[in-house]
Amino acid sequence: MASELTHPSIKDGWFAEISNTMWPGQAMSLRVEKILHVEQSKYQDVLVFKSTDYGNVLVLDNCIQVTERDEFAYQEMIAHLALNSHPNPKKALVIGGGDGGVLREILKHSSIEEAWLCDIDETVIEVSKKYLPEMSKSYNDPRVKVHIGDGFKFLAEYKNQFDVIITDSSDPEGPAESLFQKPYFELLNGALTEKGVITTQAENIFLHMPIISKLKQDCKQIFSVAEYAYTMIPTYPSGSIGFMVCSKDANADVSNPIRYEWTDEYVRKNMKYYNKRIHSASFILPTWADEILNKQD
Ligand code: SAM
Repeated sequence: MASELTHPSIKDGWFAEISNTMWPGQAMSLRVEKILHVEQSKYQDVLVFKSTDYGNVLVLDNCIQVTERDEFAYQEMIAHLALNSHPNPKKALVIGGGDGGVLREILKHSSIEEAWLCDIDETVIEVSKKYLPEMSKSYNDPRVKVHIGDGFKFLAEYKNQFDVIITDSSDPEGPAESLFQKPYFELLNGALTEKGVITTQAENIFLHMPIISKLKQDCKQIFSVAEYAYTMIPTYPSGSIGFMVCSKDANADVSNPIRYEWTDEYVRKNMKYYNKRIHSASFILPTWADEILNKQD
């Protein structure tokens, strides 16, 4: 019989997201039906398991990245908040996003002619193609171009190229650390076209307010518009995760879609989270977070 795979984060049939600093004193746990893949890639510890209640789960360096059951809440919002804030996005880029879920959402926009993805770790793409088919199916689309490499270095090569850039990175520990720092946002600004829009994974208001506050300050020094929005997602720490949404267009109002090509029927059939109303609602923050993030000088 094939020897059972094991992983240090899985004990007595449960995975526990034990992280030393990003969410001290708490840990999301998911019951494990079967461990599917364990690998130390060139950049990170890669774990995939079939959970009893959340489908297949991708974990990198002990942090849950996506589960089949709730990934839509994140992928739809990080993609459509940006794409519907651009007048006519033709060329989009994902930094990170190796599971393919954000790519899948980008391809729902009829204006998109090219969807590029730059992920540092080919192992993530390979395991996603094997275990996360509803996300990685996007790689089969002829508009998709994949580059394996560091997003920071990749962006330095491109000026005035992309209408929308989405940074779907892991957390600022490990290979994604540089993707949360000001020089990265300067590179993003340079790689965008005139009315370019970005979204970036921007952590959780209950856990990471210092990171988010610094991120917004940095973004406001670089982009004409920078606003924080969030989504609800059960398997991310404290049940929600946010996005910094920035535009080079000083007249942009990213909190209301400026383009919305879909009928209600299309949205009902093709979206599980995003719609016009929740686009706007996602920028409305609880009082304490609003005071810190939106009342800054
Ligand atoms: N939705 C998840 C989240 O919010 O944490 C992120 C999912 S996605 C799997 C994260 C991806 O970022 C991984 O595939 C990882 O390889 C990639 N990544 C990390 N650092 C990177 C870097 N410097 N350049 C490009 N990709 C990077």
